[in-house]
Amino acid sequence: MQRITIAKGDGIGPEIMDATLKIINAAGAQLEYDEIEVGEKIYLSGNSSGIAKESWDTIIKNKVFLKAPITTPQGGGYKSLNVTTRKFLGLYSNVRPCVSLHPFVETKHPKMDIVIIRENEEDLYAGIEHQQTDEVIQCLKLVSRPGCEKIVRYAFEFAKQYGRKKVTCFTKDNIMKQTDGLFHQVFDEIATEYPEIENEHWIIDIGAAKMSDTPEVFDVIVTLNLYGDVLSDIAAQIAGSVGLAGSANIGEECAMFEAIHGSAPRRAGQNLANPSGLLQGAVMMLNHLGQNSVATKVHNAWLKTLEDGIHTYDIYTEGKSSKKVGTQEFADAIIANLGKEPVTLKPVNYQSGQEITLPKYEKRTPAKKELLGHDIFVHWNGTDANELAQKMDTIGTSNVKLSMITNRGIKVWPEGFSQTFCTDHWRCRFKTENGKTINKEELIILLQQCLQNGIDTIKTENLYQFDGKMAFSLGQGQ
Ligand code: NAD
Repeated sequence: MQRITIAKGDGIGPEIMDATLKIINAAGAQLEYDEIEVGEKIYLSGNSSGIAKESWDTIIKNKVFLKAPITTPQGGGYKSLNVTTRKFLGLYSNVRPCVSLHPFVETKHPKMDIVIIRENEEDLYAGIEHQQTDEVIQCLKLVSRPGCEKIVRYAFEFAKQYGRKKVTCFTKDNIMKQTDGLFHQVFDEIATEYPEIENEHWIIDIGAAKMSDTPEVFDVIVTLNLYGDVLSDIAAQIAGSVGLAGSANIGEECAMFEAIHGSAPRRAGQNLANPSGLLQGAVMMLNHLGQNSVATKVHNAWLKTLEDGIHTYDIYTEGKSSKKVGTQEFADAIIANLGKEPVTLKPVNYQSGQEITLPKYEKRTPAKKELLGHDIFVHWNGTDANELAQKMDTIGTSNVKLSMITNRGIKVWPEGFSQTFCTDHWRCRFKTENGKTINKEELIILLQQCLQNGIDTIKTENLYQFDGKMAFSLGQGQ
């Protein structure tokens, strides 16, 4: 027996969890359950994290967590528990298979069989946001080398383990040259270690368009957190329904399994919801726990039930489906099919030893990091960048001088365009000339000068080079 933690969540959560547990128990899952309460009720009781301290203890003790979707209340102050769990427990990899069930579930993409592997801990989901001026709020996009290495290596290991032929990387590194650029660079580095697996890179916008149009050309897709979130909902929906796809969140020690969809509050309490997403999550969990024959039995019975045309409302099609059923009846039909295999759809056969363990991340020798200047961000209500440049004229030292002003990243001084729309959020770049390096004292002098001259500084960023390589972006138009 293995002890796991479960949470029934909100909205349709309790119904789909009950259905899922009924099916896996009937299939002979060797599991004992500790149930914890998370989500809306906990949030609204004044706990902004949506989970009590004792519940963390249970999750960490059991290491494996099967979680139904939860509702994050709208409005400020509530942090998404899903994101918190993934990050607290180091669940760096989010695996989302999206497979067509043609001809039994309506789809325009009969040959689609994609696994989206989404980075799960960083990117814009770092959740670091600040309002800095009346008009501008920022969200920090953080991308790390260990984060990229872990997820990219996981994607290639996954492809190897499950006999997949190709890994495609999606980024937007034509625009975000530093952050997405690092992801792409790490992808290229790690791909060389897997010569037997084809690899390719697509810019996310055209890649997403291609995936929505001809998903059958993709196999395993690896991408950053936000892109993966959006892409996997699209992939699940075009494969048949968001209600069909499950998700495994894998870390070095712990793992969490769930459906990819949310709590669908409008469908709650009506015995309508499709439990397949959470059931698929549970199948991945059983495989992860080494209970492969149970995972195989449940998955094949589920395929057989879909083949029989027994469908919940979201996948029911007149003429194609034989019977429209509710959550409970769908679960009972799967239970009745336990031990059977699909006839037309390909049966699955989970093998043992499919758990993926990565080598520990090894820190590299730190690079030589040198300072070349500072970006000082300023809150200023004027509209003419030349006027701001004049105001900043008194700021500077013999080492660093104002070299550029941008507004929302576009260069507005020197030689800006009068057509460029400007907000009240300005970046003033102070740089040394000819690559001369400085120390941080310069920044203190600049900030003191700003203070004395009534300039409202809102934040600063250091301009570094690492091993002589410039490590900051130019201004657009520079
Ligand atoms: P949602 O995924 O909950 O539902 C969108 C629509 O998809 C539903 O109205 C329904 O028509 C359909 N749908 C989703 N799951 C279905 C199922 N199992 N069976 C049949 N139809 C299904 O998205 P939303 O409405 O944007 O979000 C609702 C709440 O869920 C929000 O509070 C959101 O924060 C939360 N959420 C939670 C998770 C999670 O717990 N992992 C993930 C996403 C959203």
